[in-house]
Amino acid sequence: MFNAFARQVRTVAIGSFAVLFLNAALMLGACAQPRQSQPSSVTAFVGVNVIPMDREAVLENHTVVIDDGKIISVEPADAAEIPQDARRIEGAGRWLMPGLTEMHGHVPGPDDPAYRDNVLFLYVANGVTTVRNMAGDPSHLALRDRIAERGLLAPTLYTASPWLHSGVAGSPEQASRTARDYKAAGYDLIKIGSVSGDAYSAMADTARDIGIPFGGHIPEEVGLTGALDARQLSIDHFDRYVEFLVPEGAHTDGLERGFFGSGWVHLVDERRIPQAVRRTLAAGTWNVPTLSLVEHLASPEAPEDMIKWPEMRYMPRKILDQWVRAKRGQQAETSFRPPAARRLVELRRKLLRSLHDAGAPIALGSDAPQFFNVPGFSIHHEMRMMVAAGLTPYEVLVTGTRNPALYFDDPHANGTIAPGQRADLILLEANPLVDLANVQRRVGVMLRGRWVPEEDIQARLGRIAEQAAQ
Ligand SMILES: [Zn+2]
Repeated sequence: MFNAFARQVRTVAIGSFAVLFLNAALMLGACAQPRQSQPSSVTAFVGVNVIPMDREAVLENHTVVIDDGKIISVEPADAAEIPQDARRIEGAGRWLMPGLTEMHGHVPGPDDPAYRDNVLFLYVANGVTTVRNMAGDPSHLALRDRIAERGLLAPTLYTASPWLHSGVAGSPEQASRTARDYKAAGYDLIKIGSVSGDAYSAMADTARDIGIPFGGHIPEEVGLTGALDARQLSIDHFDRYVEFLVPEGAHTDGLERGFFGSGWVHLVDERRIPQAVRRTLAAGTWNVPTLSLVEHLASPEAPEDMIKWPEMRYMPRKILDQWVRAKRGQQAETSFRPPAARRLVELRRKLLRSLHDAGAPIALGSDAPQFFNVPGFSIHHEMRMMVAAGLTPYEVLVTGTRNPALYFDDPHANGTIAPGQRADLILLEANPLVDLANVQRRVGVMLRGRWVPEEDIQARLGRIAEQAAQ
């Protein structure tokens, strides 16, 4: 796993050559196995503008043929062979891009299956075809496998373990044992919460030994450099960067750190950013910024107005009330007093741009459903904020398509449009490379080869809104 991880990081550095190599390997794999020929499963997007995402390009007037959940060919329309009984989807004047990955999502637990299934559909409705579930429970392991068998209209799941905290990792021995338990249970990642430095070290040693990555938060005692030295696979929310940027000897005594360091942000020395970037790059650790998590809480907009945004109609009232209470709560109000809030937002955007420009691996994630982040819809806010931070639309799309596929190092992961890739696709009325708002101008979503037209999406969204209003 950790060799695989080192490979991923090199792959990020090498860029599209490695992706092309990966695609070539997938094609060979696809040829080696006789495909099941079920004519009814063949679909062709005919004469469409393809955004392959292995490079910044549009392949105009191409035909993409899908069979058995996979892309089998991408050819100029006049050269493409379309099986006679294929279902044809008109592509002229439209754009086809890979489905997006939400790298910091949450999936509800088993208590309310109807709500859980609605959340899963909200992701799909927005073109989010893969989710890294960042707080797992045993029910998610079975759910992940059920989705993989194509039974559910839900994104492909990777699931983290339950949050690692001192209750299950109170000592080094217990932390090691818990890491083994999570690996044995089949989780894809150990989700780091708050544990002591000793427990973290023991967990990290064990995790490396047995081959399970770990990521999420960084415990206070560990700090940014401790997590980078331990080769934490992902840091989410830019956790502990603010603390690192505060020079030693600054007067932090008695100062609350606040939400992601907001209480210390006035002490930051930006001349330390290059060092933070260098160290992150050397460790190969991914960052999942979740700008929208912090920016929604830090914005001057009243929470009572935020819950009137159009997408809020899909969330149950009790969750909206929780979000309002959180933003009106004491912790948020003290963490996000206007000057500190503005400063934190600017600093996080600058950090994103600096890490990105240096080539440090970044993956798209918003943290839904948390604080005004409606699953699926929040990824569009996140992308808009990343553009505001200085990334181009193409660069943002890389973080939500090709990069997550590299992160997972899974030959079946989507991420580019090429033969052998899983058929997770979004068909659009306008070019997303010109304006990322166009990612919401959907004609439909293809999920593991299953076509879900926009009328069906809207019909189910209508039912979810009715249920949420009850
Ligand atoms: Zn989260």
